[in-house]
Amino acid sequence: MYGLYGALLLWAVALYCVRRDFARAWAEPCLRHPVMVFEGDDWGYGPLEQADALRDIARALSAHTDAQGRHPVMTLGVILAGPDEARPDEAEACVALDDARLAPVLAEMRTGVARGVFSLQLHGMQHYHPAVLDKACAQDPALRAWRRQPFPATEDLPSPLQSRWTDASSLPSQALDGTDIVSRATAEVSTFARIFGVMPAVAVPPTFVWNDAVETAWAAAGVRALVTPGERYERRGADGMPVDSGRLYRNGQRCASGLTALVRDDYYEPVRGHRADRGLEALARKWAQRRPLLLETHRSNFVGRHARHQDSLAAIDSLIAGARKRYPTLCFVSVEALADAYAAGGSVLLDHGLPARLRALPSRLLTTGRRRKVLLLLCVLTAFAVALTA
Ligand SMILES: [Zn+2]
Repeated sequence: MYGLYGALLLWAVALYCVRRDFARAWAEPCLRHPVMVFEGDDWGYGPLEQADALRDIARALSAHTDAQGRHPVMTLGVILAGPDEARPDEAEACVALDDARLAPVLAEMRTGVARGVFSLQLHGMQHYHPAVLDKACAQDPALRAWRRQPFPATEDLPSPLQSRWTDASSLPSQALDGTDIVSRATAEVSTFARIFGVMPAVAVPPTFVWNDAVETAWAAAGVRALVTPGERYERRGADGMPVDSGRLYRNGQRCASGLTALVRDDYYEPVRGHRADRGLEALARKWAQRRPLLLETHRSNFVGRHARHQDSLAAIDSLIAGARKRYPTLCFVSVEALADAYAAGGSVLLDHGLPARLRALPSRLLTTGRRRKVLLLLCVLTAFAVALTA
């Protein structure tokens, strides 16, 4: 009998250790069907060859449908502006996406939205902070040269400077002034609305570095949802890497700012060798957890020095085909629709039943090999204790 008490005590200790994760896993709603979305970042301002890439991606996505006849969606995290080569030394001078020279890029975005294969999300006015970049330029001739090119690609900037919401002109980065954040976040929302004729529903912080002031300003300006990696980075460390703030997010979480959080923590970058099997593995894991698969991918797969355009198209096509075959009820929706479903708590996309929640719980909790080993050990000890008692 003492063995059984001992086993129960060990179970209680184990549950106590994971109580926060347990509460978070239990609170997160479950999906009714598998969901897969491609999350394409960094489109918009930049090289004109984006227009051809966007047309080809739209064509590839249009070739597939789910059981409801919806096409797979690639969200486009849009960058609205970048340096003006005619005024390279003016920190705030910029060319916006509705400049006549970028009309072919904008037209392909709009065409893809009309076809139901693209969904536009706010990634930022620029993929950097103009005043911070200007400070960094004063120290670095290579940065000044970058700013003098016609439509330079922000992927070529040093990673810390691609973070818009911290001052990484020197490392470790410093916090930005709150009023500066509010005015820039508000301005980028209104610029998005001017260019596309609709408010941005979803925002994606560049490099996933942001803070409460950014969130609150976006929400006040009309943004409804926030794409996160499941946690928040607020600055860059001395080594230039994002520093974890300890703030966690889950799908459907109503943030203090009022935004609805989504979690994007899987990647599909064909230039890095990612192929259908990787995407299918991620989809299986996410479906077991009754969570959506948001696959981060970048325009650099299709455009720029390292791009492998045809390979990337083929990799997306084969993943969609494989996912449709393996999951007949797979749903293709936008992140905006997903966020609205979480916020509304409806039952078309969500399953509020107890069986779904109980089924998802082990997959949501047993995310590391260590936890699986502990569970196995507890099960063995419990069986041993029961056997001794019987
Ligand atoms: Zn980006």
